[in-house]
Amino acid sequence: MAVSIKSEREIELMREAGRRLAIVHHELGQAIKPGISTWEIDQMGERLIRDFDCIPSFLNYHGFPASICVSVNDEVVHGIPKKTRILQEGDIVSLDAGLIYKGYHSDAARTHGVGNIDEEAKRLIDVTKQSFFEGIRYARQGCHLYDISNAIDAYVTANGYGIVRDLVGHGIGTGLHEDPQIPNFRQKRKGIKLSKGMTLAIEPMINQGRYDVVWLKDDWTVVTEDGTLSAHYENTVLITEGEAEILSI
Ligand code: MG
Repeated sequence: MAVSIKSEREIELMREAGRRLAIVHHELGQAIKPGISTWEIDQMGERLIRDFDCIPSFLNYHGFPASICVSVNDEVVHGIPKKTRILQEGDIVSLDAGLIYKGYHSDAARTHGVGNIDEEAKRLIDVTKQSFFEGIRYARQGCHLYDISNAIDAYVTANGYGIVRDLVGHGIGTGLHEDPQIPNFRQKRKGIKLSKGMTLAIEPMINQGRYDVVWLKDDWTVVTEDGTLSAHYENTVLITEGEAEILSI
């Protein structure tokens, strides 16, 4: 498995890509409220990305028809924005966004509550986010890739949730999805040894119930098989000799 090591120049470009993506997510997060359609979120996201002189990573990627993946409630990832899909008070919504700056991708996801959400939904969002931070404690030179997977698994499993297995994190750079694949659940092997200059998109997708997911007939939208809620949290990170540098925050 060839995992690319970025040069200082490439790292600078990926920092800038991540900085711009963080602002896109911040702006989109502010816009989430009851009554907005998932299409409006996508339109706003595409405009923000293009106003930053960047290109949406997801638009037309393997035919995906939008710039932002907008996944509501039991939708795990890859929700297709629609004018008819209106967010309601109490929903949770996952926004996955990626952009290309001077040839380099950044990829990040956030789950937001719509208006007031119940305590159980809030706990799912919080645990999902924290699982990313548990994982990146091991995203540093000298650790092994699956140390990250195992740390995420330990934290999420202790909280009683299901970790999606059919979708994983990934290396990132001039390609949106580069080697290595990064599972969020426990692995028997150690995985590759991490080296400074690797850039990884780490993205736990966590279900309230079981980990099983199914693909809808639109070929994109992934939903929980048992109908429970799902949350997603992702950042593009740089491996260093010390703590991981989170590029998209
Ligand atoms: Mg990703």
